[in-house]
Amino acid sequence: MYNQLMNNLTELKLFKTKELLDYYSSAVTNGEKTFIEALDEIMIQEMKLREERTMNACVLTANFPYLKSEVAFDFDFQPSINKLQIRNLLTLNFLTNNENVIFVGTPGTGKTHLAVALGIKAARARNSTYFITFQELIAQLKEANYQKRLQKRLKHFAGYKLLIIDELGYLEMDDEAANLFFQLTAMRYEKKSTIITTNSTFSKWPEIFKNPALTNAVLDRLLHHSTVITIKGPSYRLKNVLDMTDAVEAESGK
Ligand code: ADP
Ligand code: MG
Repeated sequence: MYNQLMNNLTELKLFKTKELLDYYSSAVTNGEKTFIEALDEIMIQEMKLREERTMNACVLTANFPYLKSEVAFDFDFQPSINKLQIRNLLTLNFLTNNENVIFVGTPGTGKTHLAVALGIKAARARNSTYFITFQELIAQLKEANYQKRLQKRLKHFAGYKLLIIDELGYLEMDDEAANLFFQLTAMRYEKKSTIITTNSTFSKWPEIFKNPALTNAVLDRLLHHSTVITIKGPSYRLKNVLDMTDAVEAESGK
C-alpha cells in the first residue's frame, strides 16, 4: 500500500507531500496531530512549493544576465545612490503606476545590477518581466520590420509589464533604429513600466538618436512619469584594481 501511495504521489507531482508523509504519518499515529491537521499542514507546504516554483519560473523567463538582488549591493561603495529611493522602488509601486526608472551613470557603477534587482522583485511578484540589451532589442525590431512582422513584434515587447532595456547609448542609431525605439516607447507610455540603463546623460541623447525632434518625443514619454537615478562614482569592476593601487601607493609612502 505504501509503495502504491508513493507512486501515486509522484504521478500527481505532489512532491512535498511525498517528502512529508513519513513525518505526518507517525504524528497522526501517535496522536500528536489529527488527520485533518496533518493534511492541512501538508497542503500548505505543497502550495508553498508550487508558489516558489512559479516565481522562479518567472525569474528564469525574464532573461536576466545574472541574478543579483539588492542584498548583494554595497550601497556604501556608491554613496551617490539614495538608498531610500531604491528601497521605495523595490516596493514596486512604480509598476502599479506604470512609471519608468532610468539609471544614468558611467560603466561599472551598478546600473544593471540595480535594474536586475528590481526585475527579480517584479518577476517574483508574477509580473511579466523581460530583460534585453538595447542593441538586441533594435536588432530584433529591425529584423521583424524587414520580415514585415513589425507590428506583431512591437506588440510582443509592448506587452511586458516590465521591460528592462540595458545599455542605451553604446550603439549609434540610424533613422530606422530611432524610429522603432520611438514606436515602442509610445506603445508602452502610461500603460507599462520600462527600466532603462544608460551611460549617456539626457543632453547627449540627441547625438545618439541623431534626430532632435524624435529624441524629444522619446524623452517626453519616458520621463513624464519616471524616477531618474543618476549614479556618480567609481566603477565596482575596478574596485580591486583601485584597492591594489591604493595599497601600492601606501607602501611606497605616497
Ligand atoms: P553597470 O553600471 O556598468 O551596468 P553593473 O551593474 O553590471 O555595472 O556592475 C558591474 C559589476 O559590479 C556587477 O557584477 C555588479 O554586481 C557589481 N557591482 C556594481 N556595483 C556594486 C555595488 N555597489 N555593490 C556590489 N556589487 C556591485
Ligand atoms: Mg550595465
